[in-house]
Amino acid sequence: MYEATAHDHITLTGARENNLKEVSLRIPKGRLTVFTGVSGSGKSSVVFDTIAVESQRQLNETFTWFVRNRLPKYERPHADAIEDLAPAIVVDQKPIGGHSRSTVGTMTDIYSVIRVLFSRHGTPSAGPATAYSFNDPSGMCPECAGLGRTVRPDYDRILDPGKSLADGAILFPPFAVGTWQGQTYTNTTDLDPHKPVRDFTAAERRFLLRGHPGGKKVSVDNTGGARDIDFEGLADRFERLYLHRDLSALSQRTRDLVQGFLVEGRCPACAGARLNPAALASRVNGLNIADCARMEVTDLIAELGRVDDPVAGPVARAAVAALERVEAIGLGYLSLDRETSTLSGGEGQRLKMVRHLGSSLTGMTYIFDEPSVGLHPRDVGRLGDLLLRLRDKGNTVLVVEHDPDVIAIADHVVDMGPAAGSHGGLVVFEGTPDALRAADTLTGRSLRRATGVKEHPREPVGDTWIKGADLHNLQDVSVRVPTGVLTAVTGVAGSGKSTLVSEVFTAQHPDAVVVDQSAIGISGRSTPATYLGIMDRVRALFARHTGAEPGLFSFNSSGACESCQGRGIIYSDLAFMDPVTTTCEACEGRRFKPEVLRLTVGGRSVVDVLDMTAEQALAFLADFPDPAVRRRLGALRDVGLTYLTLGQPLSTLSGGERQRIKLATQLHRTGTTYVLDEPTTGLHMADIDGLLALLDRLVDAGNTVLVVEHNLDVVKHADWVIDLGPDGGKHGGRVVFEGTPRELLAADGSFTAEHLRRAVA
Ligand code: ADP
Ligand code: ADP
Ligand code: ZN
Ligand code: ZN
Repeated sequence: MYEATAHDHITLTGARENNLKEVSLRIPKGRLTVFTGVSGSGKSSVVFDTIAVESQRQLNETFTWFVRNRLPKYERPHADAIEDLAPAIVVDQKPIGGHSRSTVGTMTDIYSVIRVLFSRHGTPSAGPATAYSFNDPSGMCPECAGLGRTVRPDYDRILDPGKSLADGAILFPPFAVGTWQGQTYTNTTDLDPHKPVRDFTAAERRFLLRGHPGGKKVSVDNTGGARDIDFEGLADRFERLYLHRDLSALSQRTRDLVQGFLVEGRCPACAGARLNPAALASRVNGLNIADCARMEVTDLIAELGRVDDPVAGPVARAAVAALERVEAIGLGYLSLDRETSTLSGGEGQRLKMVRHLGSSLTGMTYIFDEPSVGLHPRDVGRLGDLLLRLRDKGNTVLVVEHDPDVIAIADHVVDMGPAAGSHGGLVVFEGTPDALRAADTLTGRSLRRATGVKEHPREPVGDTWIKGADLHNLQDVSVRVPTGVLTAVTGVAGSGKSTLVSEVFTAQHPDAVVVDQSAIGISGRSTPATYLGIMDRVRALFARHTGAEPGLFSFNSSGACESCQGRGIIYSDLAFMDPVTTTCEACEGRRFKPEVLRLTVGGRSVVDVLDMTAEQALAFLADFPDPAVRRRLGALRDVGLTYLTLGQPLSTLSGGERQRIKLATQLHRTGTTYVLDEPTTGLHMADIDGLLALLDRLVDAGNTVLVVEHNLDVVKHADWVIDLGPDGGKHGGRVVFEGTPRELLAADGSFTAEHLRRAVA
C-alpha cells in the first residue's frame, strides 16, 4: 500500500472552470475517490477540466522548449492553485480511434504475446515474431496489406440521396456543385439536376456513376448552348483520381479528405484473416494464429491452457494471464481480432483499463469516467476489484460514477451539487460512503431510498415481433415486443441487447425513432439553440428590435468573428493525439464581431442570450412571447437539460446529454416506437426519476418505448422485460425471460433476476 508523505493530498483552491464556484478540495493520494452528483453539477469540471488538464500542462512544462512546441497546448485551468498533482492518465469513453489496424489484440498487446508463441512453437514456424504480424510486411496479406479488407468508395457518403444534384447531392467537396468538376454532373442534359438522387432510376444512377456503356459522348450545356463531350462518371473519376494511383503523390489533406469517403469490405485473398499464407499455415495445437484471434477470449484461455509443452508453456501462460484480465472486466465475449472501432465507449474504456492493470507504474493519478457504463450489475463487482487493485499498486484513482456499488467501495466520496449548471458547482459533501448515505444531499437521499418493482404494469395495446434474428451472437431469436408499453431489454454485457434492439429491431421496424448517443452529425458550430431551431427566432427578434439584418446575429453568417470564423475557438488537429482547442483571442470565445455585441434587446446582446441557460432564456423571452420557442425550451427542461446554455457547443456534450437533446426534438409524437440504448448513462439516481417520468409521458401519449438498460431502477419501472443471456458472446444470444418485472423476480437462470431480487430485498 502507498505510504503517505507530507504531500499526501492533491490540493485544489478556488477552482472556477465552467460552473464551479471557487471549489477548494483536498483529495487523498493513494486512495480511491468517487465523484458523485447530478449531471451538470460539475464533476467533470473538477476532474477532467481542472485536475487532468493541469496535470498534463505541468508535465508538459517540464520539457524543453523544443519538445514543448510540439506538444498540445493546454490552457491553465481557472483556479487559484492546484498543488501536489501526480501525472494523470485519463481513461475515458472517447471512442478508441477508428483505424483498422487496431484490434482488441493489438491495443492490449496480447496479440504480440501470441505472436511470440507462434514464432517459437508453431509448426512449421513462419520465422520470427514479425512474420505473424499483420502490421509488418513479412506477415501481412499482400492483397490487403494486412487490413483484412479492401477499400472502395462509399457512395452513401459521397451522395446525399435526399438532395438533387443542383441542391448539392454530391457531398465530396472536389466534385460538389459549383466546382468545375461538379459542373459535369449538374449540366449534363442526360440527368435532371433538380430531381432528388434517391428518385433516380437504376439507369440514371448508373449513368451518374459510370457514364454510358462504351464511353458514348453526352451533351453538356453550361454556356447556354449544348455541346458533346466525353463524360466521365462520378465513380470512374473518383477511382481514377484517388484510388488507382500513387496515393503518396496526394497531399496529406487530400488523403484525409478522401479517407472520409471510402468504405471497406472483407479481403478476398485472406478472407479477413489479414495474414499471408505462410503465417496462416503455422499451427499450435492444431490452430493457426487467425483461429486464435477469432476465438472469444474465454475460449482462447481454455485453449491456451492446454499448451503444456515445457518450452511453449511459459509464453502461453503469459498470454493467459493477460486474457484473464480482459475476462475479469466482463469482456470475455470479445475476440482479439475485433476492431476497436466497433467497440462501445464503455467496452473501450474497460479495455484501456486492461493495459494499465498490467503495467507496473505507480504514483500515477488514474481518472475514470463512469466505468460502469454498459456493465450489468453482475459485473460491477469485478470492476470494483480492478479499481482497487490499481489503487493498491500505489496510484491515486479518481472516478466519476453514479452506480451505488462503485460508490460503496470508495475510500472517499466528493459529492457535487446541490443541483445542475448555475445551481451546482459546489462541493456539498466530502467523506466516506457510509457518511454519504446519512447525508442530506440528493445523492445521500437517493442512496437511502428503496423502491420495489412496479405494482401495476400497463396492459399492452398490441404487439410487434422480432423474427428469426441471427446477427452477431443472436441464436435465431424470435420475440414479441408489446406495444403501448415501456419495455426494458436486459442481460449481461455481450448478451446481444444492442444487436437485437439497435440493429435487428430497427432494421425490421424502420419507422422506429432511434434516440442514441452518437455524435450529432452537424458542424462543430451546432449549439442547443441551432439544433432546436431556437436561433432563427432569436435572430429575427433581434433584427426586428434593432433594425439590423438578421445575418448579423449569426456566427455562421455575417456576424461571425473574422479570426475564428465564428467558432470561438482555434482548433488544431495533431496526428496521433487528441485534438487541442484554444479560445479565440480576437472575440474571447464570443464568436461574434465586436459591433454585434452593441446591439441589444431588453438590455441583452445576442451573446448574452446564448450564454443563458434554457431556464434563464425562458424567463427572458417571456417578455417577447413566441409559442414555438417556449415549446422547444420546455422540451429541454423536460429532458433534464435546463442547465445547458443555448450557445454551448454540442461537441462538449456527453453521450447521455446528446441522447437527451435528441429526445427533446422528438417529444411531440404519438403512435411511434422509440428505441433508446442505455439512456441512464451519465445520469444520477435523482435524474433517473426525471427520465422515467419522461418515458412514462411518451408511453401515455400513445407511444411504445423500448430501452436497453442495466439500471435496475429502470427495470423495476418497466411494464415488460425481455432478458437476454444467459451470458455474453456465444454463451448468450437467447431470450431467457420475458414478462413483467414482478414475474422476473421469480425467474430462474437469469443474472438480471438474481440482482433484481437483491435490489428489492
Ligand atoms: P457533470 O460532470 O457533473 O455532469 P460538468 O462538469 O460536465 O458536470 O458540467 C458542469 C456545468 O458546466 C454544466 O452546466 C455544463 O453545461 C457546463 N459545461 C461543461 N463543459 C462546458 C464547456 N466546454 N463549455 C461551456 N460549459 C460547459
Ligand atoms: P450487449 O448490447 O448485450 O452488450 P452486443 O449486442 O453489443 O451485446 O453484442 C453481442 C455479441 O455480438 C457480442 O459477442 C459482441 O462481441 C458481438 N458484436 C457486437 N457488435 C459487433 C460487431 N460490430 N462486429 C462483430 N461482433 C459484434
Ligand atoms: Zn487480405
Ligand atoms: Zn473569434
